[in-house]
Parts: sequence; C-alpha cells; structure tokens
Amino acid sequence: MTHSDIVVIGAGAAGLAAARTLADGGRDVVVLEARNRVGGRVWTDHSFGPVPIERGAEYIHGAQADTWEWVQRAGAHTAAAAPWAGRRIVQEDGRLVGPDVFQQRADLQPLFTLEEQIATYTGPDCSLGEWLRVRQCSPLATHIADVRMAHANCATLDTISVAELAYELRYYDKGPGDFHILEGYDYVLAPLAAGLDIRFATPVMHIAWGADGVVMTTPDATWHARHVVVTLPLAVLQSGAVTFDPPLPAAQQEALARLAMPPAMKLFLRFDEPFWDADMTFLTARNPLPVWWTTQPGVPILTAFSTGTRAAQVAAEGPDAVLEHGLATLATIFGDAPRRHFRAHLLVDWAADEWARGGYSQVPVGAHGMRKQLAQAAGALHFAGEATVFANNPATVHGALHSGVRAAREIMSTEERP
Ligand SMILES: Cc1cc2nc3c(=O)[nH]c(=O)nc-3n(C[C@H](O)[C@H](O)[C@H](O)COP(=O)(O)OP(=O)(O)OC[C@H]3O[C@@H](n4cnc5c(N)ncnc54)[C@H](O)[C@@H]3O)c2cc1C
Repeated sequence: MTHSDIVVIGAGAAGLAAARTLADGGRDVVVLEARNRVGGRVWTDHSFGPVPIERGAEYIHGAQADTWEWVQRAGAHTAAAAPWAGRRIVQEDGRLVGPDVFQQRADLQPLFTLEEQIATYTGPDCSLGEWLRVRQCSPLATHIADVRMAHANCATLDTISVAELAYELRYYDKGPGDFHILEGYDYVLAPLAAGLDIRFATPVMHIAWGADGVVMTTPDATWHARHVVVTLPLAVLQSGAVTFDPPLPAAQQEALARLAMPPAMKLFLRFDEPFWDADMTFLTARNPLPVWWTTQPGVPILTAFSTGTRAAQVAAEGPDAVLEHGLATLATIFGDAPRRHFRAHLLVDWAADEWARGGYSQVPVGAHGMRKQLAQAAGALHFAGEATVFANNPATVHGALHSGVRAAREIMSTEERP
C-alpha cells in the first residue's frame, strides 16, 4: 500500500487549488487523476484554429473573480469578451439585430434589470419559468432570460431555482464583464500544477474511509492517506462509479439526490473567413443551439453552446445531426455564407465524458442550501469542486478554485488545533 499524508482526488481547478495550498503550506500531498492531463473541465485546444479554443470553461466571469490572482501569477493576457455593442439577437421574424434595435423594444425592457429584480426576490422558491410567467414576459424576452440565466447555468427554465439565483446574485457577485484568456485557460492553471506530485491515469474506484484515515483503490495500487480531498464532479459522484465504504453520510446523500449536473456541449465551426459583422461577439439564436459567440476579432471561428435538455436532445440525434443543426441555424441568419465558408468542426459533449458525465452543477427548485451540505467534511473526507461552492460562485472555475483552498484550509486548521 502506498501512503501519502494527504491525497487529493482530481486535478481540475478545485484539486489543483487544494493541492497547491497544501503543498505551499509544507504538507505531503499527492493528486490522483483519472485523465492524462490536468484541468478537468478546463481543456484548451491549441490545434483547431489560429487561436486557442476552450473545450470546457472559457470565460472569467467578473472583474473580481478569484481567477484573476492566477491570471496575474501566470502573466496571462485577457480581453473583454462580450461588450454590449457586440451583442446580437435573432428576432421573431428571423432578423439579426443589435442593441440599437432591441434597446427600443418595450417588451424587452424588463431584461435590462433582470439580475437586480431576481436579487431582491425573497418570496417562496419557484422556477425561473414561473417567475417570468407571473411577470407576463413576452416569448422573446422569456427566451433571452432563459439563455442568460437558465441555459447559462446548465439548467432549463422550469428546473432552475430562483431562490438560489437570488442568493448568488445578492452575495457573490464578482463584478461586471466576461473575459477571454488569450493564451488559453490552461496557461493560467499551469502555475498551480507546477511541481505537484500528480499521478495521471489513476482513477480512484473505491474509497474506504473512517476516523483513522482513508484507503483508496485504483487499478494499479492501493493508497492510504490521513486526509482526502474529494473533488469528483457531481455527476461522477451521483453515478456510483466511485463507491464509498461506509456509504457517504445522509447529508451528502441528500445533496447528491437533489442537485443536478445536466449535459453541456460545444460545437466549434471554423470557416475560411468571417461572414458576420466585425463587431459581433455574442448571438442569442434559437434552439437547440441557442447561444453562439466569436473567439477574437477577425478569427473565423464560431462557438455554439447548448446545455440541459436541449443538449441531451440534440446529442441523442448523433454528431452529424448536431453539425447540421449548427449550419442550419446559421443559414437562417446568414443565408448561404456559412456553408460556403465552412471548413472544419469540433464537437465536445461533456455528458459523454467518463470523468465529468455532465456540464456543471445547478440547483433545482427547493434544493437551495444543498451545495453547503455537500461540502461538509465527513471524518477524514473533505469535499471540494464547483458543486460544493456555497460562499462564492458555484459552477465556475473561480468557485472551484475557491472550494479547493477552503478544503485545504479545513485540513490545515484541523491539524493546527492543540
Ligand atoms: C462546456 C463548459 C463550459 C464552461 N464554461 C465556463 C466558463 O466560461 N467559465 C467558468 O468559470 N466555468 C465554466 N465552466 C465550469 C467549469 O469548467 C467548472 O466549474 C470547473 O472547471 C470545475 O472544476 P472542478 O475541479 O470542480 O471539476 P473538474 O474540472 O471536473 O475536476 C475534477 C477532476 O476529477 C477527475 N476525476 C473524475 N473521476 C475521477 C476518478 N474516479 N478518479 C480520479 N480522478 C477523477 C477528472 O478527470 C477531473 O480532472 C464550464 C464547464 C463546461 C463543461
């Protein structure tokens, strides 16, 4: 049996932040990672086009997100990703319009204060769909609100909890803006991983835990540790692919039953030249690929994003159908240009990824508070990862980083007690 004082399971943002904090604190720590790379749901592709593209996490959400500390340490460069002037929506008549038009539409006015309205909501929990229906939002306003707040949270209008959205907006706003990392997200995580003892291709299959420590079974070895930080994605935990003996406590079991981690997919299309207007950055289109964005000005790549049941439905049709949906969606907006200029595509379906099994976590109606419950330590087991974030933004890279540091400090504070 191989021993390490502390084992971190998973080398995604949470696991790297936990291991970095522990190693910098002088602790003996090993990371066991199922894949052959670090990053988990951060996975930059440097070969698809002239600039890096992000198969998973892409943006830094907010000018005050915790990620900025690591951006600075890495010396990375960033660019504001979706300035207001670059936003486009497809209207009911199929026309693509910009802020000059949609700012004038009376039925879209409530969207300009959507976040503020939700943040002040203190009524009984309900779905965002119900919340919008009560406020008699028009079909297009409802669709845009869906894309912005349900779809972006890997959820659907009728599942996502307004109580959870309100809580996050009230307490964990990370400031305005979304930012691209020009060198790629992997560039920012590299300094976190540097010098750590990471065992790749080492999936943990079984965890026997108790007050005296933890024994983990992997295909080639058995590991023993005094403390373990579990950063497995929510959907991996829910799948039962990793077994626990004894089973996890009731608090975690309830959280696993009530939280959700629906699918998320990205379709990248590369063209020989851009055929959209030079200012366009972000496009709210129709289902099943309701959101599109550009990478950098002048780069002939568009990314389509689909989550939740939309992503599940389109994935079930097969990869060729997803590409066809993508080209057909663009054809309704840009005519024959997309097919004429199309050169290559890349489809990334995170629900089909064995070590993720979904996009990112979300809180259904009535499940507010479950993230905190999932994060509770159980004996020698400590929990981190984007689904366990309750004092920062969950479901993000910066939230995952924050959770890793939190779990590492839990362990260090236990040890510091007299
Ligand atoms: C398509 C997509 C787009 C996104 N966009 C953004 C965005 O723009 N901005 C943003 O902030 N966030 C975004 N996110 C969310 C962000 O990627 C995650 O919140 C964050 O990366 C999660 O980090 P984590 O460490 O909690 O989990 P992960 O990164 O999933 O890390 C968990 C690690 O555990 C490993 N593992 C799994 N099973 C085992 C096992 N049995 N044994 C050992 N190791 C195992 C995995 O391989 C993985 O490396 C996006 C996610 C997706 C999927």
